[in-house]
Amino acid sequence: MTAERLCRLREKLAEKELDAIFITTPENRRYLSGFTGSAGHLLVSARRAVLATDFRYWEQAQQQSPDFELVKVIGGLETWLPQALGDTGARRVGYEAANMSVALYNLVVETLKKMETPQRPEFTPTQDVVEGLRVVKDDAERAAIERAVRCADDAFTAVAAQLRPGMTEQEVAWKLEQHMREHGAESVSFDIIVAAGPNGAMPHHHPSERRIEKGEPVVIDMGARADGYCSDMTRTVILGRADKQFRKVYDIVLGAQMTAAETVQAGMTGHDGDALARSVIEKAGFGEAFGHGLGHGVGLAVHENPRVGRNAKDILGDGMVFTIEPGIYIPGWGGVRIEDIVSMEKGRARGMTHAPKGAAAEL
Ligand code: ZN
Ligand code: ZN
Repeated sequence: MTAERLCRLREKLAEKELDAIFITTPENRRYLSGFTGSAGHLLVSARRAVLATDFRYWEQAQQQSPDFELVKVIGGLETWLPQALGDTGARRVGYEAANMSVALYNLVVETLKKMETPQRPEFTPTQDVVEGLRVVKDDAERAAIERAVRCADDAFTAVAAQLRPGMTEQEVAWKLEQHMREHGAESVSFDIIVAAGPNGAMPHHHPSERRIEKGEPVVIDMGARADGYCSDMTRTVILGRADKQFRKVYDIVLGAQMTAAETVQAGMTGHDGDALARSVIEKAGFGEAFGHGLGHGVGLAVHENPRVGRNAKDILGDGMVFTIEPGIYIPGWGGVRIEDIVSMEKGRARGMTHAPKGAAAEL
């Protein structure tokens, strides 16, 4: 599996006239090498693929990364990088501009300065090289996401049935996490959001001690991780009877969500996809209250390509897995967001999320 990924990476390096690439993004490291440890760097050239990690991960790296030459790091990067670069003979080496600290960058530059001039490569920024490969999922990746989705679906369904007025946001978040962890999730894919009443007006509210009251909307945004892959979904529920305001806002968001899911097509840009839902919300007079993009890709990272939002140029295509999550946020009242994951297949979006999102979401 990693051999095939390396092959595709090398094609990309050739396209970009790079002799090698230095990988510092953890998800990219895992994607290319299979290595799941939390520390290590890759250097990939046309002929060589090096994984440098330290003593703590040595045995693990040997098991997980048979397609890579392993370098045991004792000390810093300066102890192995010049040698590895010299061996590749690379003239132009890319680094991942979006995921490299200034400290590490400076260290690499200082290290390269000490190399003899004929061997010293040019160190050049790149963007989205490996992310561009990760955007199209293979069957195994899709299956892992499917497992993570199911895990969150089941937890939501189970915990929604236990929700009672008086429970705090934190209690609900913990019950959801506990259920996912007890049913196969290796972790949550991000800190669960439970936002009751006015807190729901903040799209990324952190669960608090606030007790949930009858008749107020509760936004729950959650995901599980399975085999490294994430899921992400949002449901908005209400304890007891929904009032007119909630019904109205909920129906608009649900309409926007389903319209986008049913009409999004391969070949559209992320901007076009976003507009499918945004136009529904704008027509209903709530355009200003939908302040974020429609969705994002999901994979080893919970937010990755493709971007689906205003001005997003990413072209949506088969094999991509992304969220569709319109929302309306009203300060002082609360919010409604509904988020499903879809998989683009044969030009259309197939829904992967199955947790109920019924008409008024009354519990
Ligand atoms: Zn979410
Ligand atoms: Zn999301």
